[in-house]
Amino acid sequence: MRLLGAAALSALVFASLPHVAIGAPGGPSADAKVLDLANLDTTCKPCDDFFQFATGGWEKKNPIPPGYARWGTSAVLAAQNRVVLTSILEDAAKVTNAPPGSDTQKLGAFYRGCMDEAGIEKAGTTPIDPMLAAIDGITSVPALVEEVGKLNVVGVDVGLNFGAAPDTKDSSKQIARVRLGGIGLPDRDYYFKDGARFDAIRAAYRTYVSTQLENFGEPHAAALTDADAVIGLETAIAKAIPPREEMRDPATSYHPTRVADLAKLAPHVPWAAYFATYHAPAFTLVNVEVPAYVTAYDGLLASTPLSTWKAYLRYKVADSYADVDALPKRFADATFAFFSTTLAGVKEQLPRSQRCTSWADALLRDVLGRAYVEKTFPPAAKARAQALVDNLQSVLHDDIATLDWMSAPTKERAQEKLAAYTKKIGYPDKWVDFSKLTITEKYTNDLIAVYRFQTDREATRIGTATDRTAFEMTPSTVNAYYNPPVNEIVFPAGILQPPYFNPNADDAVNYGAIGSVIGHEMTHGFDDQGRQFDGKGNLSDWWTPADAAAFKKRAQCIVDEYSALEPFPGVHANGVNLQGEAIADLGGLTIAYKAFERTPQAKAHKMIDGYTPEQRFFLSFAQVWRNSQTEAAIRQQAMTNPHPVARLRVIGTLSNMPEFRAAFHCAAGTAMVRADSCQIW
Ligand SMILES: [Zn+2]
Repeated sequence: MRLLGAAALSALVFASLPHVAIGAPGGPSADAKVLDLANLDTTCKPCDDFFQFATGGWEKKNPIPPGYARWGTSAVLAAQNRVVLTSILEDAAKVTNAPPGSDTQKLGAFYRGCMDEAGIEKAGTTPIDPMLAAIDGITSVPALVEEVGKLNVVGVDVGLNFGAAPDTKDSSKQIARVRLGGIGLPDRDYYFKDGARFDAIRAAYRTYVSTQLENFGEPHAAALTDADAVIGLETAIAKAIPPREEMRDPATSYHPTRVADLAKLAPHVPWAAYFATYHAPAFTLVNVEVPAYVTAYDGLLASTPLSTWKAYLRYKVADSYADVDALPKRFADATFAFFSTTLAGVKEQLPRSQRCTSWADALLRDVLGRAYVEKTFPPAAKARAQALVDNLQSVLHDDIATLDWMSAPTKERAQEKLAAYTKKIGYPDKWVDFSKLTITEKYTNDLIAVYRFQTDREATRIGTATDRTAFEMTPSTVNAYYNPPVNEIVFPAGILQPPYFNPNADDAVNYGAIGSVIGHEMTHGFDDQGRQFDGKGNLSDWWTPADAAAFKKRAQCIVDEYSALEPFPGVHANGVNLQGEAIADLGGLTIAYKAFERTPQAKAHKMIDGYTPEQRFFLSFAQVWRNSQTEAAIRQQAMTNPHPVARLRVIGTLSNMPEFRAAFHCAAGTAMVRADSCQIW
């Protein structure tokens, strides 16, 4: 699902207490399963390729299942979590007399509606016919823009998107914002890159767009002509979207504009009528994230024939609702063939029950999340994770105090920021109230209702104080994040379980795994983007010029390192785009290691299964990144994702660390020892 409105979070994956031992009471456990040595490939030397050494045995035994583009620790755990979610939904679906509006009624009705494949097939396009009729009835540019707003409200991104977000320079309050979007390919660059591979992707995309138009009954030749016009329009929109490298700078997307001045920026947009489609409260200031984009979009409203816009809107409705399995099979098959198979190398669709579970999680969020937490995440687990997070925060505090490249005034501000972190563990303190959402078992209508509910929630935030209890990921998510405008680190219950976090494992294993994850999110607050925000979450420069220069020099070391790496032979990594994640990987593992050194296990130097505590720490880190990806998925990730592929995260990070070299006795000149090592924290 390509959901609208995702915040700009610094997450862990695709997708974020000194002296406190977190192992089982009674000391380290020798349970081989907490660090399965059968996952190793001992035919490879650890100093030659530690990723292969630590995960090669696993990879050999675990081919990518046909329903996946990537398979590894996080995908396996996400699949396990989904089994729990499915059982909750199936139980709810069996209850036919649940009180109307109760969580059980909502979950059961949503799931029954989504699973009713025959009913969806039989209904055809009837549930979305009102949208198609409205599009068909457009006769002017102002009417077109109103329809753009109305479609956006029900989950269709057609390029001009509206909502609310914390004011970048005063994050205590929410302001209106106009966001960009509207392209169907995964990134703007897909429209412009040369080469046979991109030509082939664009040809497949043309087939996809025309197929969806044909699925509405348009004759083949007309659908192809329309597809060309639609892709022409999308290409013009893509041209107005700044490249990812530019969008990394938070200032690129901060342009508070008086509503009265919007007409100068985009004279063809009837702004008042457009905002009215969202039922937005009155406001006078709006953050136009990229003004040049809005001006370009405005120009396209005037210069592109209405017939092209209408084809584009129709296609986008098909694309959006096929993506969540709300349309007959012919629509879903086209979506799967292009997005999953062509772009990501997936061979088979997952069973409908698993897809419906994912949609329920993504859309009913807290309603399903609360049931998940009740089943899986007891208060004791939360307390244990909380202690570990506090522990790492304290180690990072000590680390900042001893940095030789940062002066005292900047250190003071950094410590202020670190101390101000909000730490969220497992699930939100305050669950979102879904009582106003009505779910009826008519799946498409239910989707429309959920989209409206979420859009309304966002629009009504305009002008209010920022809610610092919000949880941007659902509790079952195997991921974590740092969110700069609210200066918080968040760890959903979904990741706080083995092999990331294992109460029965020794400290080396837990610090190498979940410890490095916590450190990762914590140091995101000080990466190339995070460091530009202060402890209140406001964009504000708190660095002395000399300290900022020293940081940039160190960040450049990471940029250079990753620019030279290849996620796939012949594919170049983009060091500029990867730097935030790579900085957080190196900082996170460094902090986790320092925290581990304070544990009794590290001090006791006792071997387990032939490995020292330090070696187990690094093995555990590498093993949570065990992962196989299709070639197509690797190529797509390199183009669209700020995270390096798993293999590079392990090799790129460890080859900078003297602690790793010492643990495995890696000599200078071996592949895992980088001559010009980078170090920040
Ligand atoms: Zn991250």
